[in-house]
Amino acid sequence: MTSTNSTTLFTGKKQIQRVLRAIKDLCFPPSCISCEISLPESRLLLCGQCLGELHFTESPLCFRCGRVFPGRQGGDHLCSACMKSSLYYNRARSLFIYDDRVSDLVHGLKYSCKTSVLETFNILKTKSRCLDDLSTFDYIVPVPLHVKRLRQRGYNQALLLARTFFYEEKNKIKNDILLRIRNTPSQTGLNGVERRKNLKNAFQVSDQKNVSGKNILLVDDVFTTGSTVNECARVLIQAGAGNVDVMTLARVRE
Ligand SMILES: [Zn+2]
Ligand SMILES: [Zn+2]
Repeated sequence: MTSTNSTTLFTGKKQIQRVLRAIKDLCFPPSCISCEISLPESRLLLCGQCLGELHFTESPLCFRCGRVFPGRQGGDHLCSACMKSSLYYNRARSLFIYDDRVSDLVHGLKYSCKTSVLETFNILKTKSRCLDDLSTFDYIVPVPLHVKRLRQRGYNQALLLARTFFYEEKNKIKNDILLRIRNTPSQTGLNGVERRKNLKNAFQVSDQKNVSGKNILLVDDVFTTGSTVNECARVLIQAGAGNVDVMTLARVRE
């Protein structure tokens, strides 16, 4: 191999990443994150069967909160919950319905910080059209963790997702605009009313000048009742934000 050929081979970040991944796959043979069957490479951490069982969100859905309506008939419309609730965000969209497959991926991201999981999400993002509904935005704001939780986990999964999904617009990602000032107990197992109570005074905008008139996209991992993102949106809108949209990786099916 000539030196010119070898230079060409190893130029470009993507090529280097590919080679490093091949070495890693050789040392640690990858398996499907859900059913654990062996995989030829770690770029996509789901086997064909588990991949086929993922449910991307699609119409008909509530054009406000993104709730997916059963069946394929009819167009997007407002759901009954959105008619009754005080919503501060404009639109919320998710890539997937939260099920066992997505749960395995989210668990891999949250508790073992598998970077290959992020690459898997990035590949899957291109198969969804959910982002088309969202407004153009000035800033991308991950839902913040309290500093104590951040120290325990070592990273904020919402920030990792924002960096993965919006790599091309990474200069818009701001993780110092919205702060979590109260370390609230986990929302797991709480109903809608309890969740809202649990989140009271949990968030604060660091400097109102930063958000005044801005269009903001909030990013989080899972949309359950929407209480967390709605509370973040409320704080941002009350600090003067022009519009808040929400993107989550997955949403729980009602
Ligand atoms: Zn599988
Ligand atoms: Zn709705």
